Amino acid sequence: MPGRLIDGKAVAAEVRERVAAEVAELAHAPGLATVLAGDDPASAVYVRMKREDCAQVGIESFHHEPGGDVPEQALAELLGSLNCDPQVNGILLQLPLPGHLDGEAMSALIDPAKDVDGLTPFSAGLLAHGHPGLVPCTPAGVMELLAHADVELEGAEAVVVGRSQLVGKPLASLLLAANATVTHCHSRTRDLGASCRRADVLVAAAGSPGLITADMVHEGAAVIDVGTNRTDDGLVGDVDFDAVREVAGAITPVPGGVGPMTRAMLLVNTVAAARTQLEARR
Ligand code: NAD
Repeated sequence: MPGRLIDGKAVAAEVRERVAAEVAELAHAPGLATVLAGDDPASAVYVRMKREDCAQVGIESFHHEPGGDVPEQALAELLGSLNCDPQVNGILLQLPLPGHLDGEAMSALIDPAKDVDGLTPFSAGLLAHGHPGLVPCTPAGVMELLAHADVELEGAEAVVVGRSQLVGKPLASLLLAANATVTHCHSRTRDLGASCRRADVLVAAAGSPGLITADMVHEGAAVIDVGTNRTDDGLVGDVDFDAVREVAGAITPVPGGVGPMTRAMLLVNTVAAARTQLEARR
């Protein structure tokens, strides 16, 4: 029997409803600043969707487009002013930045209290120390999906394929914190298939279409596909979906799996940041 489909769209809708109810209880609408530098059309679409998500749950968004040739100093000053703006509870600096700017260095200028993407070294350090602050949205979304699908993590063999700061590393920390036994694979892993076959929970975040095939998955495993790859056949994940579903116990589709959760978790983080800042001002 094919594995159960984990419907990211439905879970994200539930999360958004929860966020909207929380926002309604706050004295002030939380504020998210979005910063889009450059003219990457995909980035422009992502930012527009994130602002629409905000509007849907009652989060105010403040949009800034400093232009693709913005000097480093000017972008740093913009981030500095947003750090000081009491109406702004979260700051989203859309990556990638144009080539003359260092995305990692610029992200690090964001006040950790407003780091709703969880990408500053400070947020990464908290997570690595086991005291998570604002957690990157995609790994947080994966954890929410696993919880929603009732996947047991305590003592489970979890295998993460990919070790980026954005997805793989924070996800491995979160799985470890949930008491899974974590194997972390990457492009230099000698025998990816052997590692993956160990997994009760397999998360693919490599950006390589069809990387995970059915022979790499053990019967009944939960398979979460973070990969988002644009191909001639449209948007596909890292997992050979149809074949893997035949052996998996549960599986996320692409699109409609992790993607909608990433967007929803940004809203969760913005409200969490707003609450923490409100409490700090009391
Ligand atoms: P990245 O390029 O920064 O990292 C990819 C990681 O995968 C690297 O650590 C690399 O070592 C590993 N890798 C690459 N090829 C491999 C192979 N053949 N075998 C084993 N490991 C391999 O990418 P990223 O930013 O972490 O994103 C990964 C994928 O997830 C991409 O497809 C990206 O588009 C997608 N993504 C999706 C969402 C979402 O919301 N759905 C969010 C972020 C990223």
